[in-house]
Amino acid sequence: MQMTNPFSYTYLKEMLERTIASGYRISSFKDFDPAKEKTVILRHDVDYTLDGLLVAAAIERELGCTASYLFRVHADEYNLFSCVSWNVVQQIRDMGHEIGLHFEGMNAGRALEIEPQELVLKEKRILETMLGEPVLTAAEHRELSGSIHGTPLFDSIYDPYELGFKFYAMDPRFCRDMKYLSDSNANWREGDLLQHLLKHQRFQVLIHLDWWFEKDLLLKGPYYHPRGTHV
Ligand SMILES: [Zn+2]
Repeated sequence: MQMTNPFSYTYLKEMLERTIASGYRISSFKDFDPAKEKTVILRHDVDYTLDGLLVAAAIERELGCTASYLFRVHADEYNLFSCVSWNVVQQIRDMGHEIGLHFEGMNAGRALEIEPQELVLKEKRILETMLGEPVLTAAEHRELSGSIHGTPLFDSIYDPYELGFKFYAMDPRFCRDMKYLSDSNANWREGDLLQHLLKHQRFQVLIHLDWWFEKDLLLKGPYYHPRGTHV
């Protein structure tokens, strides 16, 4: 029997189905219900491509889940406000998912000599202006330039809640008090959700859909960023 590739959309569906069957509620940060004992907050940081987002969003919707899709506004790899991209964002939102910010105030602020807090606020306002509603959820985008320049984490200097976010993904509430699992660099370092089910009541699961595919990753084109190092 052929094993299902752990980065295929088929596996994504299987993973979510089995999680739901085990009694967990899967939701975005916005829809997180602290009253529910067994919960999974599902987060997608959109690093380099919007390819495949609609496939995942449709699977999640079909299963009755919501997820937080966090987008960059400084990406070289995609223009969030191109007609094609923005149409994808609208469709994801119409499916009931949350749109949030994958901010880059530290890295971009360093390069552009803009105060990071001020820059993140601008990023937030730009996205809010396009969405026509408040952006509640945020996570910081980190990449290789941050390591090379020794750029600290945003939350080691600033308080993201001061900028008006309601949910900061790296808040200890969501990554220490909950079991945090991530597929950063296409590597489930601690194993994926199925390997941890029932060991914990609450999870935050970060899935970079950059790595996930229908048939073969190469068929997504060059924008899955094969040399990328990011979290
Ligand atoms: Zn990122």
